[in-house]
Amino acid sequence: MDLDLNDEQRLIQETARDFADNEIVPRARDSDRAARFDRELAQRLGDMGYLGAPVAEEYGGRGLDYVSYGLIVEEVGRGDSSARTVVSVQTSLVCGSIERWGTEEQKRHWLPRLCSGEALGCFGLSEADAGSDPSSMRSRARFENGHWRISGQKMWISLGNHAEVALIFAQTDPEKRHRGIACFLVPTSTEGFSSQEIHGKLGLRASDTASLALDDVELPEDALLGEVGDGFKIAMTALDSGRYSVAAGCVGICEGCVEASVDYAKQRKQFGVPIASFQLVQEMIAEMVMRRDAARLLVRRAGILKDQGKPNTAETSIAKLYATESAVECANLAIQVHGGSGYVDDYPVERYLRDARVTTLYEGTSQIQKLIIGRAATGINAMTPPRVDA
Ligand SMILES: Cc1cc2nc3c(=O)[nH]c(=O)nc-3n(C[C@H](O)[C@H](O)[C@H](O)COP(=O)(O)OP(=O)(O)OC[C@H]3O[C@@H](n4cnc5c(N)ncnc54)[C@H](O)[C@@H]3O)c2cc1C
Repeated sequence: MDLDLNDEQRLIQETARDFADNEIVPRARDSDRAARFDRELAQRLGDMGYLGAPVAEEYGGRGLDYVSYGLIVEEVGRGDSSARTVVSVQTSLVCGSIERWGTEEQKRHWLPRLCSGEALGCFGLSEADAGSDPSSMRSRARFENGHWRISGQKMWISLGNHAEVALIFAQTDPEKRHRGIACFLVPTSTEGFSSQEIHGKLGLRASDTASLALDDVELPEDALLGEVGDGFKIAMTALDSGRYSVAAGCVGICEGCVEASVDYAKQRKQFGVPIASFQLVQEMIAEMVMRRDAARLLVRRAGILKDQGKPNTAETSIAKLYATESAVECANLAIQVHGGSGYVDDYPVERYLRDARVTTLYEGTSQIQKLIIGRAATGINAMTPPRVDA
């Protein structure tokens, strides 16, 4: 496996790094403090082609490979995980699903607007009682007199208050469990659709998170994405890309932690010398460097496999598990290196910790990633033990 970047990938990486330094980093602290979703920054991400980087050019994307997409996401994630969430949701979960499963008409209608940032999309899979087990969802869809009618509630939906289109997963036949799930493209202006902001998050404060309600929402027949019963597959293929994106963003957090800690340790003096001279401080920095490099290599491997069209579900889960847990660990260590200064937002490291924390939860918790990896290693599915009510 060739891990080297080619010239084009290097240029993409440098451009994304400059963009993050000049346009994301300067706004990150204020948006976090104000818990404000920065729609203008989302538009700038679209202007740069960062909201549909791997989408084909004929649909408004940049037609980039997955390795390049990962490089962009890493840089955006180093700048601000809230901005990175916009990139991950819009690109991997929404555009990726429409490009892969949509009809020509659906692709032409939605993708150019989503890739440019003119419109935002959200991915409505989770519900209050259906998180790790989406097949237990309660949202229902039925086909009646030539129209779909959907009712239900979705929870924890990123960009849900700002999206123009929501991918909504709903059950058409509860007996069939995951084989009965369908996915719909729901314009959020449709009558009966409403959203509410979720307040009080530990981190990702500048990212919009919503609960959604669908009250007998009526949709035309062609609002269905894929076929009835494809919903679970659509969700799982979207998450294969989304997990890669989250992992790449977490490499960015690890990188940010290393940079901030090295800078700080070299200028901060105690006992008459820079704290970087102490072996115990270097040990913390070495741990961060090791985790950043290992996470980056795992993300690169998953990206290369995706670009080669080879199976990569387990490799993507390994990258997601390791990168997200490492981001939490690195941010925690980075605060330690900064001492008391790391506890306030004059430095980015406390935000890194708060923002990293959710990445071991969403797009499949760390436990779920371990079950996917364990299943690939043993051939035994430990995800669904015998039901207690069986
Ligand atoms: C800020 C934020 C943004 C989000 N954005 C979106 C979004 O855009 N779209 C969307 O659809 N969802 C989104 N989510 C939801 C997220 O994907 C879920 O929170 C996640 O899947 C976990 O589900 P849960 O919270 O219901 O936890 P649960 O599934 O209840 O899990 C609770 C605990 O039980 C463990 N557990 C569950 N099942 C098993 C098992 N089989 N074996 C071992 N342990 C298990 C879990 O690992 C966890 O530790 C978001 C969440 C947050 C917090």
